[in-house]
Amino acid sequence: MLRQVWAGLTGENLLNLWLMAFIAAGLIAGIATGFFKARKIQPNGFKWKIFRWEIFGAVVTTSLSGVVLGALNKYLTAHGWVAFNPAPTSWWVIAAEYVAYFFLFDTYFYWLHRWMHKEPVYTWVHKWHHKSTSPNLLTTVSVNPLESIINGGFVPLFMTAFTVIALPIHKETAALILPTNIVMGLYVHAGYEFLPRWWNRTWATKWFITTTFHDQHHKYFNYNFGGYTTIWDYICGTTRKKYEADFDKLCERRSAPRAPVVAPEPVAQEA
Ligand SMILES: [Zn+2]
Ligand SMILES: [Zn+2]
Repeated sequence: MLRQVWAGLTGENLLNLWLMAFIAAGLIAGIATGFFKARKIQPNGFKWKIFRWEIFGAVVTTSLSGVVLGALNKYLTAHGWVAFNPAPTSWWVIAAEYVAYFFLFDTYFYWLHRWMHKEPVYTWVHKWHHKSTSPNLLTTVSVNPLESIINGGFVPLFMTAFTVIALPIHKETAALILPTNIVMGLYVHAGYEFLPRWWNRTWATKWFITTTFHDQHHKYFNYNFGGYTTIWDYICGTTRKKYEADFDKLCERRSAPRAPVVAPEPVAQEA
């Protein structure tokens, strides 16, 4: 038995085991040293009642929207509405296709998101996601199934549009696009800010959304509508005025020795 286990611990397996041990040790060390605590955006924001709702929402939404979007993709591919460019290509073509997706989705999301904040759409569709005023990873999938279909529907829409204009994307691009929405969703709802202070001070980086940026959308509602970038919010003046100052404060708090955890401000809509 022991010999079998030992025989299995070779090459790739051993490397995976080392990687997992490394990540686990990092997480334990992070918790023990207060690394995560110091980076929590809303230190006292967790509520069991909301977390239970998020679990329910996640299960309902992922199953419902998974079925609808899966069927839609199948239909579009079977009927030739979505096709891929099979020709070999260079990395910069893949990069250009990905960049097109990234900024087009960001535009689509920003304007639909602002529309979803208007009644009666807010109450019927978007309110579900805003039950969470202090996001965590599960908040990503705690959305009304309809909203999940609207957001997730962008990928088939994008692939169909490019097929129709005779510029079908490459399979490699699709492989990069598909996980992007979920990865970005988890990133903005993480509840922890890991980026350095200089991030918001230079235009080379400040256009890219931070976790604090979207966290504040959940806390204050009427600001920071962007999904991948802050560009549309800066253009339309919908960035929360205190966002940059609060981001700085968060960075200061974690660099201060044994900084006290600040009590959260009451959740309120700002004028
Ligand atoms: Zn919203
Ligand atoms: Zn959100």
